[in-house]
Amino acid sequence: MKHFDYIIAGGGCSGLSLAVRLLPYLKASNKRVLLVDKVYKKGNDKTWCFWEEHPDIFEPVVCKKWNRLSFSSSFIHQQLDISPYQYKMIRSKDFYDYTDEILIGNDHVIILKGIVENLYTENQRAYAIIDGETYSADYIFSSIPQVQTKKRACYQYLIQHFLGWVIETENPIFHPECATLMDFNTSQEVGTSFVYVLPLTSKLALVEYTVFSEQELAAEGYTGALKQYIAEQLHCNNYIIKEQEYGVIPMSDHPVESIKGRIIYLGTAGGFTKGSTGYTFRFIQKHTAAIVQQLNKFGTVNISSVFPKRFRTYDATLLHLLASRRLTGEEIFSTMFQNNNPIKILKFLDNETSLIEELQIFKTLNKKEFTLALLNRTLKALI
Ligand SMILES: Cc1cc2nc3c(=O)[nH]c(=O)nc-3n(C[C@H](O)[C@H](O)[C@H](O)COP(=O)(O)OP(=O)(O)OC[C@H]3O[C@@H](n4cnc5c(N)ncnc54)[C@H](O)[C@@H]3O)c2cc1C
Repeated sequence: MKHFDYIIAGGGCSGLSLAVRLLPYLKASNKRVLLVDKVYKKGNDKTWCFWEEHPDIFEPVVCKKWNRLSFSSSFIHQQLDISPYQYKMIRSKDFYDYTDEILIGNDHVIILKGIVENLYTENQRAYAIIDGETYSADYIFSSIPQVQTKKRACYQYLIQHFLGWVIETENPIFHPECATLMDFNTSQEVGTSFVYVLPLTSKLALVEYTVFSEQELAAEGYTGALKQYIAEQLHCNNYIIKEQEYGVIPMSDHPVESIKGRIIYLGTAGGFTKGSTGYTFRFIQKHTAAIVQQLNKFGTVNISSVFPKRFRTYDATLLHLLASRRLTGEEIFSTMFQNNNPIKILKFLDNETSLIEELQIFKTLNKKEFTLALLNRTLKALI
């Protein structure tokens, strides 16, 4: 049986982030990691957006940054100055090329293309069965989706599904210095839905139609909404579609075990996708940085989360409220942005606010509906 100090199962966003962060530690301790994925990641399968105050290790591949965001709905239209944060975009193609450059050919990283068939842990060791062969390691870090066998009525299982087009317009219609975070000027019949617009130049932008609901739409549902938004809100009829991005992200409060013995789950598989927004990239970065910090300090890993547990309750409450349809997502987010400093909201959505800041935000929301959603969720969990 082949043994490695560590195995990274899944070489997507979180697996590659961990591998890059781990490299100095591997060199210093003369250890080796096996990085395995069923595909060799190339090309632009995702565009990651997130906000941060200080540049992190993937700053070299940030392709665009914005200091201003806009938020629009049928209730409000606001331009938000978000400094000291910047809203950033990374294209996965650049991310994969960059991580390849760092990892390929490095003596401490062995890259393998293979299907991980099973992971288990026994006697302080972790094991992976890859294409029928068993490998052992001190720890396995896995971002391979954990199969949820049983859905429970007390949890919500919404999905965030979206179609985005990178469009090039004939005329300069975009303001490259300001990105649209959410524009709810879309039909809200299929669920909470909005469009975000990420302008790269005055004639080039990623326009993405997003829905929070139980089920995906038929293809025409997304394309129709995008065409309508571009014509009616952007007042544009002459454009070409240069690229397309489709995705589904889970939005759930179903608890996820992020540590099972010597197996540490990363990314979406580890529960690092924020239930109420789908944002994951920054949580992956915080988690993988914390893992490497612990390895450096103690040689062991024991991190189940990178934020206080109460944020899971907030996400669950919001999900239950959305699912109940007693308030629409448009109403909830509009109230939040209308009555609070945007920086505080971004900090809150990053799970980094203090309890006092959270109470200040809650005071501005519809207390009755949020309390009912919280009670409803708590009662269901008790039954
Ligand atoms: C289209 C899209 C856009 C997104 N945009 C954003 C965004 O703007 N901001 C944000 O914060 N989040 C975003 N997300 C959410 C999240 O950041 C991404 O899904 C991110 O890629 C999650 O990283 P991960 O490592 O958990 O999963 P992945 O990046 O999907 O990596 C998992 C890896 O495991 C491999 N794998 C799976 N099964 C096996 C197996 N049996 N054997 C071997 N390998 C296997 C897969 O090939 C894959 O490479 C987006 C998601 C999608 C789908």
